[in-house]
Amino acid sequence: MAGPKTIIIGGGIVGLSLAWNLARRGWTDLTVLDRDHLNAGASARCGGGVRSQWSTADNIRIMKRSTELFASFPADTGFNNWFRQEGYLFLAYTDEQAAMFEQNHRLQKENGVDSELLSPAQIKAKAPTINTDGVVVGAFHQKDGVCFPFAMVWGYAKACRRLGVQVLPFHEVIGLEVAGEKITQVVTNRGRFAADLVINGAAVWSPNIGRMCGVELPNCAEKHEAIVTEPLHPFLGACLIPMDSGMYLAQTMRGEIYACVGLEKGPATDYDHTFAFAQKISRLMIRLIPRLAGVKMLRQWGGFYDLTPDTNPIVGFVDRPSNFYQYHGLMGHGFMFAPALSEMIAEHLVAGKLHPDIAPYGLARFKSGGLEVEKMIIG
Ligand SMILES: Cc1cc2nc3c(=O)[nH]c(=O)nc-3n(C[C@H](O)[C@H](O)[C@H](O)COP(=O)(O)OP(=O)(O)OC[C@H]3O[C@@H](n4cnc5c(N)ncnc54)[C@H](O)[C@@H]3O)c2cc1C
Repeated sequence: MAGPKTIIIGGGIVGLSLAWNLARRGWTDLTVLDRDHLNAGASARCGGGVRSQWSTADNIRIMKRSTELFASFPADTGFNNWFRQEGYLFLAYTDEQAAMFEQNHRLQKENGVDSELLSPAQIKAKAPTINTDGVVVGAFHQKDGVCFPFAMVWGYAKACRRLGVQVLPFHEVIGLEVAGEKITQVVTNRGRFAADLVINGAAVWSPNIGRMCGVELPNCAEKHEAIVTEPLHPFLGACLIPMDSGMYLAQTMRGEIYACVGLEKGPATDYDHTFAFAQKISRLMIRLIPRLAGVKMLRQWGGFYDLTPDTNPIVGFVDRPSNFYQYHGLMGHGFMFAPALSEMIAEHLVAGKLHPDIAPYGLARFKSGGLEVEKMIIG
């Protein structure tokens, strides 16, 4: 089946993983446009964290599938993604957080995710270098892990091109031409592309794309920063998330400690890195792992989370133009969700099968108040 002439706007993990899934299912006329070089957006600015420990059943199921896809990525694409499944360890400091962990744990078990609750003594045995003062309980899942983000984008791009997808960096979409009910042309700074189907996968810039054809989107860009330290002998194992601060911290395959924490809530227009973040994160890191005192920071950067009003993605066709599909609003977890979501979306587009886990994500839901808010959003 050749499929429609499809233009995907945005060459981050979202756009590329969807293109690859469509190409694998037999669509042959696929073009991915990005205004920048590959790995310019959030997909390369993220921590590469992959976990199934969520608070809603849909998110748990989606991430169970995505984790399998991260693990099979080298075999599926021929590209090493350095996915290491050393677990995620969440730390609760209050009875309220502990109760939430217990509730999540039950739901995760019901949905086939084998997470565990750990006492402070068990946490100490698993991660001897961390300060467990004030910790009430831990939540751990061995199959969670960390993946090298650049490799996922490069791997999907390479696998796409091998299947005949045109992946075109440095093509900025500057207009959409609509005739009747449909977009017919995607206009870029380097030429025009005829289209039967247009996918909006431009993350926090999706509202700009929407406005080009009269579609208003509620996404909001929120700035998040990250740092890495100099490389250290491997000692950490699991990715750590102390819930008192919402920091997350992991050791990369090169031994650096990567850490992130939210600083400024709400809409942002830039992702410049700040001294305030460097101060805050270093204090939190040393409080959690005292032996990090004196370790040098190597690099600091910022990026955008793509927020939606109810913390859930926006996926599906809009009413008008009728050939305009949305795929964005992935908050601070789109890197890990993209492999499974793209598989489900490709099934929807190619075979017409709308997976029940993505069915609620249409834009129209905001008219009736949105969906259940996810409680395990960190950062
Ligand atoms: C600091 C930080 C840490 C994070 N940590 C994690 C994590 O550990 N795990 C996780 O799952 N997620 C994490 N995230 C979130 C994750 O990075 C994103 O959800 C995910 O990368 C979104 O993918 P995307 O393809 O939608 O976005 P992007 O990678 O931003 O891709 C969108 C693309 O659209 C392009 N574009 C924009 N406008 C146009 C235009 N007019 N024409 C053509 N192209 C255009 C951009 O150039 C960009 O390449 C983190 C994010 C940040 C900022």
